[in-house]
Amino acid sequence: MIVLYIILACIAVLLLIFIIRALLVKDTAAAPEPYEKPQIDLDDAVKKVQGAIRIPTISMRDETIPDKPFLDLQAYLEKTFPLFHEKAQKRVIDKYALMYRIEGSDKSLKPAMFMGHQDVVPPQEEGWKYPPFSAEIADGCIWGRGSFDMKSQLVSIFEATEMHLRQGKQPARTMYFCFGHDEEFAGEGAQAMCRVLQSEGVEFEFIFDEGMNLLDASMIGIEGPLALVGVCEKGWVNAKISVKGEAGHAAMPPKETTAVTLAKGVAKLNKHQMKARFTPAVNMLIKAVCPKAKFGFRLLMANADILRPLVKPILLRISPSVAALLRTTMAFTVLHGSDAANVMPDESYAIVNCRVNLGEKVEDVKTHMEKVLGPKYTVELQEKGQHEPTSMSDLDSFGWKMMQKSVAEVFPGGVTAPFPFVAGTDSKFYDALTHCTMKFSPHVTDAAYRAGMHNVNEYFKVSDVECDIQFYYRFMENACF
Ligand SMILES: [Zn+2]
Repeated sequence: MIVLYIILACIAVLLLIFIIRALLVKDTAAAPEPYEKPQIDLDDAVKKVQGAIRIPTISMRDETIPDKPFLDLQAYLEKTFPLFHEKAQKRVIDKYALMYRIEGSDKSLKPAMFMGHQDVVPPQEEGWKYPPFSAEIADGCIWGRGSFDMKSQLVSIFEATEMHLRQGKQPARTMYFCFGHDEEFAGEGAQAMCRVLQSEGVEFEFIFDEGMNLLDASMIGIEGPLALVGVCEKGWVNAKISVKGEAGHAAMPPKETTAVTLAKGVAKLNKHQMKARFTPAVNMLIKAVCPKAKFGFRLLMANADILRPLVKPILLRISPSVAALLRTTMAFTVLHGSDAANVMPDESYAIVNCRVNLGEKVEDVKTHMEKVLGPKYTVELQEKGQHEPTSMSDLDSFGWKMMQKSVAEVFPGGVTAPFPFVAGTDSKFYDALTHCTMKFSPHVTDAAYRAGMHNVNEYFKVSDVECDIQFYYRFMENACF
């Protein structure tokens, strides 16, 4: 009996500690300042977005890039944003990548960088409600390839800057703008611009690139939208797993062909994933959301460090997108055996697309695969497209503080949270040029809205054009002007 009392007393003390820790959580985000939102001529801004979507800047391999759409877009931007082009020094790097610089008045400030991309993924041939480059407006949305990713955002960056310039202002902080032409393919444009900046010794106070959006977080008790701002990017590598054997006639197959051995290996590796971990980015995400969440969630989040072993398996099962935040992912995308149905393959291979978690290296993927698979299998990491995870942005930096402030001002009740970005952006190449990269697209979305990206019937809400311009305008005002 006494043992039971001791156990119950321990549980009660533990619970009390959990509750006290949840009550002690403090909100350290700065309070928003009231400010006057500028008037935006939305019809005019939407027309500018439509014009940009109608120029089919399809991302392609270097040797097959057609000049015309990219040159047309450059001419269109010059015509549409005359003041921007009058005030900015423009450089075209590698034929299509666009770099602009607007001189700031205070030379003691490190420059700011706003990034994006001009290209879009090729449109699917069928299934479009409206032709992909028509930029049709229907049901309060602009429809077309690139409307979401990211012609609307690109135009908003120009428009917000032009609005400031129209008021006769000069930024205090020098502003750079870099827009690559092949983000969707290889990011050669971004890399070329990065080399130029590196050779000139430019370092940025912050880099603001496309990224994740704001989400409705009312379910966990957050009143305003939750801005998930990417503060790091996972690494990327394709691994080839191959099995070699004897070719031969399919009429007399051995007990196990290379295709069978490969299938067994794939199944084994799929079962033995790389270790899930709470990276600093995930811990910071929990810390940022915790003060604003309902008490029940706060209780869990404030004690996440102690509850990790219990919480981790639950998180891994919630959804693939949550699991991707915690570990290196392995997507088995290509399986190849024989080219003919009646010929046994002498080699079978699989290509696994891996997104490498923070704190790990590309090489760790190979080590893990070899350990799980054993000597029958050959694992090779493909050089093309390979990159290590980026570093984590400094959350005590000026850029991050201005991001928190601008989110709270433009989206009342909005909360900014750091987010480990699991997809790819051009800003990963600029990692060495700043201590604060923020990957963020400032409009509220849900999964269905985001699903249009790279898909048929991609759309962007007309009201979000206003949202993007308002956000960039205020952020620039806080951070640059
Ligand atoms: Zn994009």
